[in-house]
Amino acid sequence: MDHSHLAANWADVRRRVDEACRAAGRDPAEVSILPVSKTFGAEVVREAVAMGLHRFGENKVQEIRDKSGPLADCGIAWVVIGHLQTNKAKDVARLASEVQSLDRPELAEALHRRLQAEARAIDVLVQVKTSSEESKYGLPPAELPGFLDSLARYDSLRVRGLMTLATHSEDPAEIRACFRQLRELRDAAQARGHELPRLSMGMSGDFPLAIAEGATEVRIGTAIFGRRPAPGSA
Ligand SMILES: *Cc1c(COP(=O)(O)O)cnc(C)c1O
Repeated sequence: MDHSHLAANWADVRRRVDEACRAAGRDPAEVSILPVSKTFGAEVVREAVAMGLHRFGENKVQEIRDKSGPLADCGIAWVVIGHLQTNKAKDVARLASEVQSLDRPELAEALHRRLQAEARAIDVLVQVKTSSEESKYGLPPAELPGFLDSLARYDSLRVRGLMTLATHSEDPAEIRACFRQLRELRDAAQARGHELPRLSMGMSGDFPLAIAEGATEVRIGTAIFGRRPAPGSA
């Protein structure tokens, strides 16, 4: 496959992110881009590394396992953004630099135990469910205050902010309401003394709305790497 389009895509995404920042009256330096390399192989990620990218989002721990070996020389920070089963905590503790999909107490406990065994600490974001769709993972908003308080006991988990996926909708107002809710939950938690500078929200199809609502990080797959094969067709 020819991936010379990667650099052009990356430049285009950065330009559109900067544009969305200016439209929202924000400094483009406040918003980073997390390239999401899921379903793309190690050779594609290596090309992105050659362009200067060193942090990649993956939604399956198995893919981090598969790619981290051949890319061991690249100094990549792997970021887990997908639903995590507790039985994957050991691999995460070994291989990941960050988890953005922390969404329940048992997972926090499992990650902490495995990180202690590795003598490591990682950054985490709490994934909150801001959409009413059945299929979306994430902590129910009402449980966020208690969950954040409970995380204080885990010194291996450095809680840095919140993450969400917006609802699937044709209506920008509905999507934007999800992002607004995440920001308001963050503001409320900060008012209670939690330091949560980061808001990870927005993907290829909706990132300008997320930036308008205060995203500090957008997670971009398709717009950088291209279309992913449909599940089952590989
Ligand atoms: C795949 C994925 C993304 C990126 O989605 P695109 O639409 O390809 O940009 C972002 N966040 C999560 C949690 C994902 O699983």
